[in-house]
Amino acid sequence: MRDQLRLLEELQRHDAELLELEGLCKSLPERVQKVESAIAELDRLLAEKRLELADTEAFRKGQEQEKKDASEQLSRAKAKSSQVRNLKEQNAVQRELENTRRQLEQREEEITKLSQAIAEQQGKIAEHEARVGDQRKELAAEHDRVAKRIAELQGKLQAARTRREELATKLRPDFLKKYSTIRIRRGLAIVAVHDGTCRGCNMRIPPQLYNIIQRGASLEICPNCNRMIYWAKLLEEVSETA
Ligand SMILES: [Zn+2]
Repeated sequence: MRDQLRLLEELQRHDAELLELEGLCKSLPERVQKVESAIAELDRLLAEKRLELADTEAFRKGQEQEKKDASEQLSRAKAKSSQVRNLKEQNAVQRELENTRRQLEQREEEITKLSQAIAEQQGKIAEHEARVGDQRKELAAEHDRVAKRIAELQGKLQAARTRREELATKLRPDFLKKYSTIRIRRGLAIVAVHDGTCRGCNMRIPPQLYNIIQRGASLEICPNCNRMIYWAKLLEEVSETA
């Protein structure tokens, strides 16, 4: 019976380890996904910034065209001013000259501002691209790290599964079945009793039952939490003598 109790306890430790290893295996790809979604977000922002830049460039192109039109108009006005016949015509040409000059100045100012904005946007895009590049490098490194770690964990998992199977074959089938049923419902299936207290539910167990488990001749269940129980000292002695 002691051996069976010890096996059950060992089986439980293995199951906990398996659960932890499986959890780790699952959580690792999530780390890669995090970096991947960070890159996707950066890419999205980068595309937005490139669109903004294209808009500004198109606007500057329009302004350049308007500037060209204005300077052509100015040339025409200048030509006209040499052919004025009277004061009325001269005044009209003068007004046209002033208007087109002002137009030209405004377009030039606008173009200067737009060129500055374009340079700024290009700078930001370059910065952004560098960041995306760094993130991609990080992603590649993270991929490698995670792949190695998963391979390592798979090895451990395989070993733990093999050991668990070995343990399971040594256990009485009815004990194993009971263990599995309780484990599904309660997490821990087998717990120690220290000084008359069940470590699964922290309740004192009845004295008569405490006497029974101290003999260690049968598999008993905690009347409160329904887990399999054993007297803690019973297995301690086994490991001390072993
Ligand atoms: Zn209990």
